[in-house]
Amino acid sequence: MERDDDRKVARFAELVGRARSGVAFTGAGISTGSGIPDFRSPGGLWSRNRPIDFADFVRSAEMRREAWRRKFAIDDATRGAAPNAAHRAVARLAANGALAAVVTQNIDGLHGASGVPEDRLIELHGNGTYAACLDCEERHELEDLRAAFDATGDPPRCRRCGGVVKSATISFGQAMPVKAMARAQEAAEQADLFLVLGSSLVVYPAAALPVAAKRAGATLVIANREPTELDPFADLVLRGDLVELLAPFADRS
Ligand SMILES: [Zn+2]
Repeated sequence: MERDDDRKVARFAELVGRARSGVAFTGAGISTGSGIPDFRSPGGLWSRNRPIDFADFVRSAEMRREAWRRKFAIDDATRGAAPNAAHRAVARLAANGALAAVVTQNIDGLHGASGVPEDRLIELHGNGTYAACLDCEERHELEDLRAAFDATGDPPRCRRCGGVVKSATISFGQAMPVKAMARAQEAAEQADLFLVLGSSLVVYPAAALPVAAKRAGATLVIANREPTELDPFADLVLRGDLVELLAPFADRS
């Protein structure tokens, strides 16, 4: 594993230490340390199973059955995943005011679980730890849905209105949530520091946020295992392990 040199790590600590309206923008790389695989990586689930498009999900009960089968299989594979030191560091920085917002592409719910306050957390791709009705937005718990699915094999319908129920995530072909995107854009434009943590910045429109932040005056830091297209545009680029980089911020008082 690559290690960042001490000067870069010290610079990182200094930038984080003086941030007052920072934004952390996180992707799959922050959760691999919690045992959650990066589904987009080569050999990852998405390179073997073509994702189910939102329109197909809505149209076809068979597609919904397949989607739920996969969803529950992923849940089994990641059961027990808990926030790691990188999540805890982000939560601490959100609590002490260094970070005004945590914007994530992840659907694993680990930022919430690590204590990032709801009003500072923006989950751009939704949250896979519960489900919602596509018509009336009624929240449904996965446990209940699974018990019924295991018993009948039928994809779940809303207990309130009979509508189609889907995990509360944004699927391929589904519109990005307008409110979450607007909040993220606003936080980016007001940020003094914009930290990219474990995102390869390939999924748009979210990947445009670092550019918006930098143009509005933020210092841009990119910490990711692989190079990103925005590296040349960043003030500081780190390549080492995120847990190692952020652990010192997790427990500092
Ligand atoms: Zn409903």
